Parts: sequence; structure tokens; C-alpha cells
Amino acid sequence: MKINAVTVFCGSKLGANPGYSLQSQILGKGLAQKGISLIYGGGGKGIMGAIADACLLEGGKVIGIIPKLLLEWEAQHESLTELIVTEDMHSRKLLLYNKCDAAIILPGGMGTMDELFEMLTWNNLSIHNIKVYVLNWNGFYNNLIAMLDQMETDGFLYDNWRERFIICENAETILNAFS
Ligand code: AMP
Repeated sequence: MKINAVTVFCGSKLGANPGYSLQSQILGKGLAQKGISLIYGGGGKGIMGAIADACLLEGGKVIGIIPKLLLEWEAQHESLTELIVTEDMHSRKLLLYNKCDAAIILPGGMGTMDELFEMLTWNNLSIHNIKVYVLNWNGFYNNLIAMLDQMETDGFLYDNWRERFIICENAETILNAFS
């Protein structure tokens, strides 16, 4: 499948290891070079800001989708190709899912997990069919992957979820998956 746009979910903080933002910058730059639009939550801070800046710097197209609530905190990115403001978090998430051909999960916190698991659940329910690429650089998601393995071993998961949950060890591997 030709990938024209990817939605990236990631931390609104930078994290303790500078490698997380470095990997995100490699990804943002690579998306721009491949002519793939970056869609994300519209934030200017943390990993969110790092990937958006790197993509824009390389001449890429970056679309931010942000709810009014977060706009009022004035932390949105100021120089995106396009900023879409939604009424609430739920309409924001729907747009983030609907606009992409694939999704990427970078290191992040609870918000990132919320979005990851909603995407995986909606895949299970056939509400959408989106491949999710998980950046497991530095083993950041090892414990999460172990938890999913445990759920599967103990019979709580549905079939074929692994086909749309693709673990990649670095940004280059994710980029190579996109034509
Ligand atoms: P977390 O992984 O907890 O840092 O959450 C990432 C999520 O935080 C994003 O997808 C947003 O829902 C939310 N978020 C926090 N700050 C911002 C911001 N300034 N702009 C956009 N989204 C933000």
C-alpha cells in the first residue's frame, strides 16, 4: 500500500534520554524526504515538537490536529503547514485516525498509550484497519510488549493483532517499511 500520510503519537515531554528526540528527528526528516505527510497532535513541545520541527526543516508537510482545550494552554506549534482545531479530544482522535494510511508510536506517556490502545482496539473491532508501527528504540516498549505477550498467552487477545502491531528497533526500520 502506498503511504501518503502517517499519524504519529508521541510524548508531549522529551523524556530523559536524548536518543528519543534524536530518533524522532530522523523519522521526521525521513518522512519529509519520502514525501509522506506527518499528522500529529499539533504540540510544539517534547517529542511532538521535535518530530514536527525536523519534518518542516526538511520541507515536509505537517498537519497538527489539536482540541480547543489544549489550544488555550498555548503550547501548539506555531509554524505548521496546517493546524486543525477540534471541539474536543474525541473528535481530534477521530480525525487523527481517519486522515492516515498508517500510524507510528514513539516514546511517550499516558496520552500516547491511550491513543495506541484505542487504535489497536478499533482494529480488533474492524472500525478501522490501520497498521501501527511501534518504535522500540532502547527497549522503551519492552515491558509493554511483555504485557501483550502475557495477555495472549493467557487467552485475552483476538487473532491477528500482531499483523497490525509492528515493532521496530529504530527510525530507519520504520522508514524502510514505507514505499
Ligand atoms: P503524553 O504521552 O502523556 O505526553 O501525551 C501525548 C498527548 O498529550 C498528545 O497526543 C495530546 O493528547 C496531549 N498533549 C499534551 N500537550 C499537548 C500540546 N501542547 N499539544 C498537543 N497535544 C498535547
